[in-house]
Amino acid sequence: MQCIFIVLVSVFISVHLWLLAVYINIAFLIIMHIQPKKSLGQNFLKDPHYLGKIVEAAQIGPGDQVLEIGPGLGHLTRALAETGCTLLLLELDDRLIPRLREEFGSRSTVQIVHTDALEFDYSGLTGTWKAVANLPYYISTAIIQRLIAQRSRFTTLTLMLQKEVAERIAADPGGKEYGFLSVLVQYAAVPRLEFSVPAGAFTPQPKVDSTVLTLTMRERPVTVANDEALFLRVIKAAFSQRRKTLRNSLGQLGYSRDVMNDVMSNTGIDLRRRAETLSVDEFCGLTNYFGGK
Ligand code: SAM
Repeated sequence: MQCIFIVLVSVFISVHLWLLAVYINIAFLIIMHIQPKKSLGQNFLKDPHYLGKIVEAAQIGPGDQVLEIGPGLGHLTRALAETGCTLLLLELDDRLIPRLREEFGSRSTVQIVHTDALEFDYSGLTGTWKAVANLPYYISTAIIQRLIAQRSRFTTLTLMLQKEVAERIAADPGGKEYGFLSVLVQYAAVPRLEFSVPAGAFTPQPKVDSTVLTLTMRERPVTVANDEALFLRVIKAAFSQRRKTLRNSLGQLGYSRDVMNDVMSNTGIDLRRRAETLSVDEFCGLTNYFGGK
């Protein structure tokens, strides 16, 4: 009984200390006359419950190398640092860098880089990494594409995204959510929708719904596209006119009539189908056929 009481009191105190840290950070913004910038997607996650759930979903432990994009006021950073991982933080907003340095700068396990995550050279990362981020939504798909392009460096990406983007990434063939991003990401990774996060968990509150998604990188795609640049061109062309048949949308790739006529006998794929009905493996098959021409 006494034991349960002590546990309850400790949980109560730690949640309140946590909230205190969050409110100090928000007060910092107000005192420094720093307005959260809409243009930088600054919706800070303040609810300790969801911060804990993100760390849990990302399965971060001591010794893990974790890349956090957009640490902001350090709310998620603090939850991550508590696990004993090492952290590389990429933050673009120069107003937030002093605050981050003040709190995390003296820790040897935390490196703060003032940079644009779209410009950062991920190919310089050594060893394996987990990326965790409450992403600024205006660049989330561009960041995902950059991380996927460097996928040998990452085991998992655990990302807070606009709900629709997360659903598009995890979509199965056949529906209207399935598209370029689904094929690109699922070629490289296995997506899992973790949980949704209400707008009230952020400050300021976003106008869109948010979902946390985990991408577990595949060691090897199920079917390898021998030429990944061509694979990108094929899926881009196929979904650029998604209401058209593949014969029409893939016409822009410039293959001859003979090559197009032989697709069916070489790949088993009927070009009267639409892009949204093709599996990732079928797109790889198409790419490998075109690549040999
Ligand atoms: N991680 C914090 C949290 O969960 O409360 C902040 C998340 S907030 C949605 C997005 C953060 O990304 C902001 O701190 C913003 O300044 C930063 N950011 C926006 N664009 C960026 C970019 N191109 N490169 C790096 N950071 C960026």
